[in-house]
Amino acid sequence: MGKVTGAMLLAKSLKEQGVEHMFGIVGFPVQPIAAAAQEVGINYVGMRNEQSASYAAQAVGYLTGRPGACLTVSGPGVIHAFAGLANAKENFWPMILIGGASPVYQNGMGAFQEERQTELAAPYCKFAHNVEHGYRIPFYVEMAVRHSIYGRPGPVYLDMPDDIILGEIDESEVSAVARVPAPPRVQTMPEYVDQALDLLEKAEKPLVIVGKGMAYSGAEEEVRSFIERTQLPFLASPMGKGVMDDNHPLSVGAARSLALKEADVVFLMGARLNWIMHFGLAPRFNKDVKIIQLDIAPEAMHQNRPATVAMVGDGKAVMGQCNAALDGRQWFYPKDTPWRQAIAKKSADNAAAIQPQIDDNSSPFNYYRALKDIREWAGEDAMIIGEGANTMDIGRTQLPNAKARRRLDAGSYGTMGIGMGFVIAAAVVNPDIPTISVSGDSAIGFSGMEMETCCRLGLPVKIVVLNNGGIGKGVEVYPKDGSAAPHVLSVDARYDKMMEAFGGKGYFVSDPKDLRKTLDEAMAYDGPALVNVKLLPDATRKPQEFHWNMTKAQA
Ligand code: ADP
Ligand code: MG
Repeated sequence: MGKVTGAMLLAKSLKEQGVEHMFGIVGFPVQPIAAAAQEVGINYVGMRNEQSASYAAQAVGYLTGRPGACLTVSGPGVIHAFAGLANAKENFWPMILIGGASPVYQNGMGAFQEERQTELAAPYCKFAHNVEHGYRIPFYVEMAVRHSIYGRPGPVYLDMPDDIILGEIDESEVSAVARVPAPPRVQTMPEYVDQALDLLEKAEKPLVIVGKGMAYSGAEEEVRSFIERTQLPFLASPMGKGVMDDNHPLSVGAARSLALKEADVVFLMGARLNWIMHFGLAPRFNKDVKIIQLDIAPEAMHQNRPATVAMVGDGKAVMGQCNAALDGRQWFYPKDTPWRQAIAKKSADNAAAIQPQIDDNSSPFNYYRALKDIREWAGEDAMIIGEGANTMDIGRTQLPNAKARRRLDAGSYGTMGIGMGFVIAAAVVNPDIPTISVSGDSAIGFSGMEMETCCRLGLPVKIVVLNNGGIGKGVEVYPKDGSAAPHVLSVDARYDKMMEAFGGKGYFVSDPKDLRKTLDEAMAYDGPALVNVKLLPDATRKPQEFHWNMTKAQA
């Protein structure tokens, strides 16, 4: 053992702790960290904006259970990456942000890009610390990784000043730190499991809600056994989609509003009753609904609505307990109940209501017609990334997921601009699974420059832009007299040519008869491709029974 730099010790420690991917932008003072990461075999991906790098790092965390790293320069670089910390905090995804910092010996002097980084990062993080001495690097890296994946997952921050990065350390004097194992799976009390099953047995209109906590905990087999054994109807949250196949006969996805409004017992698995689930309150939920809650976090229990049964534990472990307890019971939810009939009828009515749009071959496209071809093209295996308001909302209903952890979107924080970072992360983590992004034209604008990253790395990602020329909607002709409304963007902006400019393939489609063959051509191309689909400027969703957000009058 000889002397190493702080940069090298950091890279070795990250590798030792199972951090395999690092996304960042180099510059002062972190260039040596990126170089050392490459030397120790961490996959370093140079990005074009720290925001996207921070989104990529957390997608790696969600998909693999081990945090991805984001590496940024001091000051503004760190601040840009806070976007990702905030998103990871709201979604409970592990990531580690490593912020370069001005040298400690210049603290307070007005150093280049000097900033109170750790203090500012702390509110977004489960753990945030200055690395104040090179010898302590392995200690802090282990602690950061452990905090990011143990308990409720989330983001962590380490501050690396220039003089620590460049400082020399005698490795023989560094205390060894063991690799933190995968988090222990925590079970709940057996009597809670019995209470939960008793409550479900008595329900007339039971409903299971499957959230992304179940996807993260890898509980898909246990959830499938439970639902098939009990025959309970289920609804997936946006990223809980695929834990159960969306096309499963027990899915009530096509009758979401009715299922939420009338269920009398809801088994909430790894999901929250937050704005996405309408806070669990009337009128979106039955005012007398009883909740069975399963979550890794004790403090998540009873949020917005008291739970009748509160099961704290790991999703996979607790569903294993539920399945074991079912072995001693005969009960399952019967085949022919008024509840099942009502759901089936509502699903059929909803399907019939959108069918004319699916069948509408006029040019330019409506959302449903475009998504019909995308759905058939994407198949069952693809990773689907969605962003943009209508594009994401309608896409969620029209693009089924058959497998767990195959959907990434704007998530609990409603963040636009996550798409390209998620695309890059998905493609590097799962190179054998097609990565498809379906983005609105506004959404692609936030991080479109990462197309260059995709082309540079030769990632075979496929990006479909549903382009209505605006935020929400656009106009037929852009008014040149300065009278354009705030939501209006360019008409027919050629995002496809942007992809071509960096060396990928671009396609522009305005006639439905051309879409499927164009998508196939894009898929056959062995590199990044973007298909720019011209939508009607005022294409929109089918009318909804409720406004998406709770109004003050309802609160
Ligand atoms: P969704 O958006 O799918 O509704 P949320 O982000 O609202 O999901 O909620 C996910 C929940 O899953 C969080 O409350 C989180 O604490 C929980 N969770 C995270 N990891 C696990 C796990 N291993 N087991 C059970 N629950 C988990
Ligand atoms: Mg748009």
